[in-house]
Amino acid sequence: MSFVEHLIIGGGISGCVMARHLAKRQLDFKLIEAQATLGGRIQSTEQGLDLGPTWFWPHQHSVKALLAELNIDIFEQYTQGDYVYQAGPNSPIQRERNQEEMLSNRVEGGMGTVITALTNTLPQDRILLNAPVRHITKLDNIWRVLLTNGDELSCDHLWLAMPPRKVAPLFLAADDCVLSKALVSHLQDQQTWMSAQAKFVAVYDKPFWRDAGLSGQGFSRVGPMVEINDACGGAEESPAALFGFIGVPAVNRQPLDEQTMIDACVAQLGKLFGEAALSPTSSHYIDWASNKFISSSADISEPSQHAHFDQVRFEAELKGLNLGLIGSEFSQTEPGYIAGAIDHVNEQVSQVDY
Ligand SMILES: Cc1cc2nc3c(=O)[nH]c(=O)nc-3n(C[C@H](O)[C@H](O)[C@H](O)COP(=O)(O)OP(=O)(O)OC[C@H]3O[C@@H](n4cnc5c(N)ncnc54)[C@H](O)[C@@H]3O)c2cc1C
Repeated sequence: MSFVEHLIIGGGISGCVMARHLAKRQLDFKLIEAQATLGGRIQSTEQGLDLGPTWFWPHQHSVKALLAELNIDIFEQYTQGDYVYQAGPNSPIQRERNQEEMLSNRVEGGMGTVITALTNTLPQDRILLNAPVRHITKLDNIWRVLLTNGDELSCDHLWLAMPPRKVAPLFLAADDCVLSKALVSHLQDQQTWMSAQAKFVAVYDKPFWRDAGLSGQGFSRVGPMVEINDACGGAEESPAALFGFIGVPAVNRQPLDEQTMIDACVAQLGKLFGEAALSPTSSHYIDWASNKFISSSADISEPSQHAHFDQVRFEAELKGLNLGLIGSEFSQTEPGYIAGAIDHVNEQVSQVDY
């Protein structure tokens, strides 16, 4: 069994930011991730198109600060021109003028750039991929973490950088659950933001909608996409693309195959944006609800809502256990957002006595 001072479980933005803090302080740590790549909900294609989060907003200063530190360029979401709207299956497509726009920012090269840049600052031998944790126990004041491949790791400080609903089962799977019943139940109540979502991205030779005075924004009560946006990159050479959030609930999507969803999305884009939209050069469809390391059955069946983790109520228990809960859902300010993840990790680090 190998021992490290600090063990981080979960390699999304929370885990990667925590790893960077520990690496900067030259502390002994390991970051373990269940999946083959780091990033968690952050995932971009090779062309820099976002399949997970796309935006951050001007008030989210910690995101800006991290991007500046990592030398990553940002740009504003394209919203110039009219938007299109379809109210019902037999309704005509309405074209309306954008009134007030809430400014949102994007990352040049896609959000995945942040994960790549963070990872590049870490010692690679501290990262363990394809390593799902099966259960967690504590013995003689030392954490023991069993992986599904049978390997065991131990540590003093344990940082769980994952959705709350993925935390509780790891403790319940052990013979002796060290978390209080109240904490387990509270963790299971916290929904994983956007984890029941699916997203579609269509890539084109050029942003033909812009030439037609359209912003690329579309709203529909018909679907399968309910909200569509321009997904072009900020740099001239970046691909032209549109992306949409699928409105079909996760339970209704499950029996449908991917190609059926893709065909329906392309047909919808054709209706909203004209014939040119019917011929994307490529497309991407991702259903987050089917990712067992992110989404839980409760996330899929509930109406979408933000987590409200009561940090104050469980502070003493967590401190006594040497346990840090650092996924974005644990943020007290922006739960579920990238900014929340960064803020919360920064705050947790500042409170730890090294
Ligand atoms: C479609 C979509 C759109 C979004 N849009 C936005 C947006 O525009 N702006 C914004 O701010 N936020 C957005 N979000 C939310 C944002 O992506 C998340 O807040 C953020 O990425 C969460 O990061 P995290 O590191 O806390 O958790 P995650 O990214 O969920 O990472 C958790 C990691 O833990 C790993 N893990 C789980 N179980 C185990 C285990 N047993 N063993 C080992 N590893 C495990 C997982 O594989 C995963 O890599 C969006 C999310 C989605 C899905």
